[in-house]
Amino acid sequence: MQNDILDLVQQRNPNEPEFIQAAKEVIDSIWPVIEKHKEFQTLKILERILEPERMISFRVTWLDDKGEVQVNRGYRVQMNSAIGPYKGGLRFHPSVTPSVLKFLAFEQIFKNALTGIPMGGGKGGSNFDPKGKSENEIMKFCQAFMSELSRHISHRLDVPAGDIGVGGREIGYMFGAYKKIKNEFTGVFTGKGIGWGGSLIRTEATGYGLIYFAENMLHTKGDSIKGKTCLVSGSGNVAQYAIEKINKMGGKVITASDSNGFIIDEAGITKDKLEFLKDLKNNKRGRIKEYSDKYKSAVYHELDTNADHNPLWNIKADCAFPCATQNEINENDANNLVKNGVKLVGEGANMPVTIEGINVLIDNGVMYSPGKASNAGGVATSGLEMTQNFMGANWTREEVDAKLQAIMKNIHDTCLAAANEYGKPGNYMVGANIAGFLKVANAMKAQGVI
Ligand code: NDP
Repeated sequence: MQNDILDLVQQRNPNEPEFIQAAKEVIDSIWPVIEKHKEFQTLKILERILEPERMISFRVTWLDDKGEVQVNRGYRVQMNSAIGPYKGGLRFHPSVTPSVLKFLAFEQIFKNALTGIPMGGGKGGSNFDPKGKSENEIMKFCQAFMSELSRHISHRLDVPAGDIGVGGREIGYMFGAYKKIKNEFTGVFTGKGIGWGGSLIRTEATGYGLIYFAENMLHTKGDSIKGKTCLVSGSGNVAQYAIEKINKMGGKVITASDSNGFIIDEAGITKDKLEFLKDLKNNKRGRIKEYSDKYKSAVYHELDTNADHNPLWNIKADCAFPCATQNEINENDANNLVKNGVKLVGEGANMPVTIEGINVLIDNGVMYSPGKASNAGGVATSGLEMTQNFMGANWTREEVDAKLQAIMKNIHDTCLAAANEYGKPGNYMVGANIAGFLKVANAMKAQGVI
């Protein structure tokens, strides 16, 4: 029966490897729950949760600076609304496909359930590549994208946020376009600017939350981040604030990357260097190589995308935090992490470790946290932004940070409790999948066959 469902997923979603990968991981780990709850089988909860409630695909046409017509493809996957309005980011990257967005929307269902805030799962984006585009072109694209997406979202129905290639700038342009089209000012986006409905700490939340989660994991072994040497991949939003929090908690980060390569700085990416990195990536839109041009303590390595392993994960360290993209740690990388003495791998990105890689880590006793648990701080703080918008309130930095810490501890403890109950103590992946699934499955059961 377990294989029947997996076969069905494969038949229904041909050429969608990322979605099938995410589905397989969840089906495998929640199977004991399905066996225990016969009513979930009768109601076909699993078959239903694997099918998007709605999937919108649309043309985005815009004029570039040369006056040439450009055509991109836009999407929104409204995956599951059993426990709240659809919620999940928008990704602008040439690698965006229905498979990638369905895997992200599927993961988002369980992640959002784990936060304890009533939010359903969704995701969207476009194959538009913001790299190398002028400010004017970015704005034109965002407005064209919104001219269609605005028909399908609202603050009570579907509330997008940022993801790869979509930061504060893009959210500003899309929010402005929505406001103009709909003639209303509502909290239809999260990740908004602080002066116009945004929440303090939202920008930092995913990276900070990741490290709070790792600290909770280490505490179970009487240990902490303090004094740990850490590998971080990526240099975008999640990576920057993970580095910042590791520094604040007394750890040292020695790597950062982008899609072209990575730097190793054995002296550590200290506060001043991190400020340089933030300015480089967020304002100058530069490349990570420029970090090693500026700091002689750092060495730059070009990435070979055809290689069977990534040398970033073959460095001696205590903890690793992949914060760039999906499938960046494969089986070989996982073996290298083990060999180099890494004791904890915390996912900042979504699905950065392949299924084979996860098995290597778990089999070798490495503490591993799946993104749907350890990067949930971002969407949780988006939930706090939505609450503030509904209340017309602005919470202080300290208030939001305290809530974020409490949420991450709660997710951590919930995962451990579920893993224990189902005979897999210490397995955060199984715990996250089971706890998230149970919440959504019970809501679907209560709401009837729809
Ligand atoms: P950003 O766009 O801010 O940064 C992404 C980083 O990853 C950049 O350094 C980028 O390099 C690198 N990257 C992107 N694609 C690839 C690739 N194919 N190969 C190697 N490197 C790549 O995105 P975020 O930091 O927001 O997101 C990073 C990850 O975290 C994603 O998996 C996202 O889904 C996940 N996430 C983000 C949340 C958020 O709140 N922002 C919340 C939860 C999860 P380059 O500059 O070359 O593009």
